[in-house]
Amino acid sequence: TPQTRRDRPQGRLATPARISTTAAPRTPPPHRYHLLMPIPPVIDAHPVQTAQTIPVIDPATGEQTDDLCVASADDVARAVDAAASAFPAWSAMPAVERSRRLFRLADLITENLEPLARAESHDTGKPVSLAQTVDIPRAAANFRYFAGAILHAPGDLHDMPPDAINLTLRKPRGVCALISPWNLPLYLLTWKIAPAIATGNTCVCKPSELTPTTAHLLMELVARADIPPGVVNMLQGPADPTGQAMVTHPQVPTISFTGSTRAGRWIAQHAGRDLKRVSLELGGKNPALVFDDADIEHALATCMRAAFTNQGQICLCASRLLVHQHIYDRFLERFCAAARDLRPGDPQDPDTRMGALVSHEHRDRVDGFVRRAREQGARVLVGGRPAEPPNSRCARGAFYEPTVITDADPACEIEQEEVFGPVVTVSPFDDEDEAVARANGTRYGLAATVFTNDLSRAHRLARRLDAGIVWINCWMVRDLRTPFGGMKQSGVGREGGLEAIRFFTEPTNVCIQIQEHRP
Ligand code: NAD
Repeated sequence: TPQTRRDRPQGRLATPARISTTAAPRTPPPHRYHLLMPIPPVIDAHPVQTAQTIPVIDPATGEQTDDLCVASADDVARAVDAAASAFPAWSAMPAVERSRRLFRLADLITENLEPLARAESHDTGKPVSLAQTVDIPRAAANFRYFAGAILHAPGDLHDMPPDAINLTLRKPRGVCALISPWNLPLYLLTWKIAPAIATGNTCVCKPSELTPTTAHLLMELVARADIPPGVVNMLQGPADPTGQAMVTHPQVPTISFTGSTRAGRWIAQHAGRDLKRVSLELGGKNPALVFDDADIEHALATCMRAAFTNQGQICLCASRLLVHQHIYDRFLERFCAAARDLRPGDPQDPDTRMGALVSHEHRDRVDGFVRRAREQGARVLVGGRPAEPPNSRCARGAFYEPTVITDADPACEIEQEEVFGPVVTVSPFDDEDEAVARANGTRYGLAATVFTNDLSRAHRLARRLDAGIVWINCWMVRDLRTPFGGMKQSGVGREGGLEAIRFFTEPTNVCIQIQEHRP
């Protein structure tokens, strides 16, 4: 049971205070955990008082760190109105001016890396070092990249001699609903906000109710970057009522969602009724294929990262290791030894490489997968239970041991369903065909990793694997210019680079007839 902070006053924001958009740069935003008031939705640059609150828990300690004000369907409607009102001016602003403000926002995120990283770590349980080196720098990079991309997006113009010119305008689509999950909170939310507003849209956004803090801090920085009120509205709360009201609002024609396949299906169904445009970035059950011609040391080290980074809670994590029979025993022994050495630590310790899972509920869910795997005949070689807390501060934390499972039937749940935790299966294969069949044998198709030094095999597998991303001899090497997303039930559409610019804009083809010269 989470502890409640005894010194917390139960008050709400008495009157909505306007966040200034003109104030001179102030000191970095205070660390939200010292503000004894609930985290509010921010609509039209106003923090909003709401009737319902829910607790925010630090999963590494079990302690309540905040309350969250839940946005109702009415709050969502007001946020959509604010976004719609801000749209004409923001979309008419010259791209170079929007770009300047996005660059400024990127700089502000970088200047505030420390409080943002600490907040991210407290909300998620992830090692603060990971938030400092990956999550928050990537949030800044998202704004920096799209600030530049809109200035350099290629045009589309066709000369039709002798008497016409054909060009395609790309217009912003209006109010976008942007919804993100808890595993990479600011990183994934800004991956949507940046292209949406860079291209002239306005938005209503929602982070996960488990990890609201950095999204709230971002709103302070949005205001300081002179992004006008209403362009970015931050709604806080769970799927019901907040997320569902965003998705079904009739004035929201565009939805970009990252989260589970289950929620993606609900959103697709409801968006379909009004023919909304949706981008769905969903779950994965990603294979890593290790061939006997690979650099085994490199494959071992990379598979450890791919399996356990962020406690296995990245959609791109490799959760099924398929290893060629010739090297299987040696690989398995070394991999298990490395997994045993990886101990969860206090996320606030700068040396910690593995932290807590996002919640106690999620830890129990992960444990349920492992229990059922055992019942279905798989063998748990390493871990397979909640981990000892690393210190007394974390005595009530949601820690789980890195877990390695073998002898799982390809059809059983642990091989088929996304666990989204530090749990990986290892299985042998005899040849390339068997490896491909096993890799493709789930309903997901997000990412795949191949370790081989055979160039032709690498190219063959890139074509044969059902995956939106195929990494050869690496994992999680990303470039913001490239398309990102999955096939099958891992998603619909792509984000990143030009794909994102296309998604957030409406093409209008214009054909201009050139009149004959009449003196
Ligand atoms: P989730 O689907 O439960 O929730 C994601 C977000 O959507 C949250 O903000 C939630 O409140 C909201 N939401 C849920 N149902 C909704 C609905 N019906 N209408 C509107 N909003 C709704 O997912 P989660 O547990 O927060 O995140 C874990 C999942 O996210 C995993 O499946 C993981 O693979 C996936 N994920 C995918 C990617 C990707 O890029 N493909 C990246 C990160 C995480």
